[in-house]
Amino acid sequence: EKYKEGMKKTRNSFSGRINDLIAKYRKVDEDFFEELEEVLISADVGVMTVMDLIDELKMEVKRQNIKDTKEVKDVISEKLVEIYYGDDDEKVEKLNIQENQLSVILVVGVNGVGKTTSIGKLAHQLKQQGKNVVLAAGDTFRAGAIEQLEVWGERAEVDVIKQSAGSDPAAVIFDGIKAAKSRNADVLICDTAGRLQNKVNLMNELAKVKRIIEREIPGAPHEVLLVLDATTGQNALNQAKTFSEATNVSGIVLTKLDGTAKGGIVLAIRNGLNIPVKFVGLGEQVGDLREFNAHAFVYGLFA
Ligand code: GDP
Repeated sequence: EKYKEGMKKTRNSFSGRINDLIAKYRKVDEDFFEELEEVLISADVGVMTVMDLIDELKMEVKRQNIKDTKEVKDVISEKLVEIYYGDDDEKVEKLNIQENQLSVILVVGVNGVGKTTSIGKLAHQLKQQGKNVVLAAGDTFRAGAIEQLEVWGERAEVDVIKQSAGSDPAAVIFDGIKAAKSRNADVLICDTAGRLQNKVNLMNELAKVKRIIEREIPGAPHEVLLVLDATTGQNALNQAKTFSEATNVSGIVLTKLDGTAKGGIVLAIRNGLNIPVKFVGLGEQVGDLREFNAHAFVYGLFA
């Protein structure tokens, strides 16, 4: 229900416009495809992704000998799901959490995208699943970041490891690892700074944090989650490029999907960067984080 509600803007705009097209054209022809292309691009699906999709659709329409636009809707859904997964057979992209061993999740992203909120929501979700979770306040740069994480720690009822503002993030993460180990924690979630004004410094800082984690725990970090704001459209894609050049991003948390009609950005990210969207944010409350499933997402667009 929450998912349906959170997707309302995208769903209304997307299905509304495609239904209008179907009613307007009736027959599947070149003009129909051209206008469909516009609808998809304006939903932030991404130009390259849309081009691929339209080519695929044309072939499929020919193969199945589809003439009526009404029949094309199912093919669009099918192809959107296919485009999302590409050659990947692994349909459900679960969070990589180890059993009986500490798992470390490094969370990166630019200020304001919803990083702290997402960490809080994720901690809550894991706690609900019976995991023992510890947070490390690695954003020592932004004023108020540590306090804000503590507020989320209280909400999720998990411990927050911190040092004073301005201290070395790598030292905080080191403390976090020590604390998580001594408390027999299942998951350590590490916050990081998100100032993109000084890209080189930020990337160096992230690299240092990652080295500490790798050194202290073999096989860690088990996830590097990049938080992106769905309302920033193609800008989110650029951020994803920047971060994935600096570090091995293993998954995306796409926030504020409830605040945009352009949910197509999900498809653009997957198709353009080949990074799976693992979670979507659908609101500001602690329960408003959902595991992402492309099939449900695409079919939900027309529901
Ligand atoms: P950070 O600077 O990246 O840590 O961003 P914050 O976690 O402080 O979030 C910035 C703002 O976005 C806050 O007002 C959050 O409540 C809001 N926010 C975060 N995630 C979502 C979401 O999924 N939906 C909505 N509507 N707002 C969100």
